[in-house]
Amino acid sequence: MSGTGGNDLVDETQAGFEARFEYSPSGIWSAPGRVNLIGEHTDYNEGFVLPFAIDRRTFGALALRDDDVIRVSSAAGDDVVEVRVADVASGLDGEKRAALGWAAYPLGVVWAFGRLGADLAGLPGFDVHFDSDVPIGAGLSSSAAIEGALAVALNEVWRLDFDGAQLVDVCHRAENDFVGAPTGILDQSAALLAEEGAALFIDCRSGAAEPVELGLEASDLAILVIDTKVAHEHASGEYADRRAACERAARELGVRSLRDVTLEQLIAARETLDGVTFRRARHIVTENQRVLDTVAVLREAGATEIGDLMFASHRSMRDDFEISTRELDLAVEIALNYGAIGARMTGGGFGGSVIALTPTWLISQVQVSVDGAFAEHGYTAPEMFVVWPSRGAARER
Ligand code: ADP
Ligand code: MG
Repeated sequence: MSGTGGNDLVDETQAGFEARFEYSPSGIWSAPGRVNLIGEHTDYNEGFVLPFAIDRRTFGALALRDDDVIRVSSAAGDDVVEVRVADVASGLDGEKRAALGWAAYPLGVVWAFGRLGADLAGLPGFDVHFDSDVPIGAGLSSSAAIEGALAVALNEVWRLDFDGAQLVDVCHRAENDFVGAPTGILDQSAALLAEEGAALFIDCRSGAAEPVELGLEASDLAILVIDTKVAHEHASGEYADRRAACERAARELGVRSLRDVTLEQLIAARETLDGVTFRRARHIVTENQRVLDTVAVLREAGATEIGDLMFASHRSMRDDFEISTRELDLAVEIALNYGAIGARMTGGGFGGSVIALTPTWLISQVQVSVDGAFAEHGYTAPEMFVVWPSRGAARER
């Protein structure tokens, strides 16, 4: 029932290390990708999110060296990037850092350990080789997976003794401050802290995270990812625009962030905001409440009862935040018509994927129906696969 990875990929990662470096790794560590069950664009408003780790993982085979050289390699490419621990610790200058390419993600983890208190001077270098069945750049967070896999590996072999929350910090700093890709803590929290069978309820203001049982198997439910394969070319500008609208609304309302506003307060202050800003804020305020409601419903009644909240979240993103696309809307509509009990777009929007909470015996019916509808509309054929809530980063071997 689990995904495509498992032991085969552990063996492959080991073999990949041996082929590249001509000796054996001392261990293999891994971290998962993730999807967000509910709570979209709430992270940078200091609100709530509810992702879960998926059964697709990035594996890192690693061995310490006798010198201070670091070599990083990935099955996703042919280049082996070589640097010294001290050079990474110093941060490298702009041009050298840019030249690292994909290796900035793992090397950013090394750098962030140093920034967050690890004394890197005198630590030995290492060789690491990554392999993965998390699709890269598809919104399932392959970036946090590669960071998380290396973070747990180095935490152990370098005996750094960082706890889970500190490792989230390390990976978050790596991606934001070293790679230079602004993200909230959602991805890294899921990759490091998630538990099997559960979603992770995260308060993005405090960073506190706690597991919430999903009980999918017991309810004969599964989550189908429908990747529309469509990416909006103006997505980053639209993202910045939504962020700015949220900040504008918070400023007008005199609060630190939209986290601090109730729907009643927002409605009472309606006159102070222009129509678009009001709707942007209403999405955030109601979405935060939907995350809280989803957690409560999961605990009291189980996953069979969260379908309406998922669809309400989708409508809010479609109508108030305006980040959906016709492909995402079609996937949601058809999934709900043909068996899903809840469906919504997931991720930043303007393309990407829908998740459909579906009774297991109706999964293939939903798939066939979505495929047919996309063909009828002349849309790119979507990719669909089931994901299971899985554990966070850990040692594999
Ligand atoms: P996502 O996290 O949604 O997959 P991102 O753009 O955040 O997309 O991160 C993707 C980038 O992370 C890739 O372009 C690459 O630089 C790096 N990356 C992730 N996983 C791997 C991997 N297994 N091997 C090499 N690079 C990887
Ligand atoms: Mg990412």
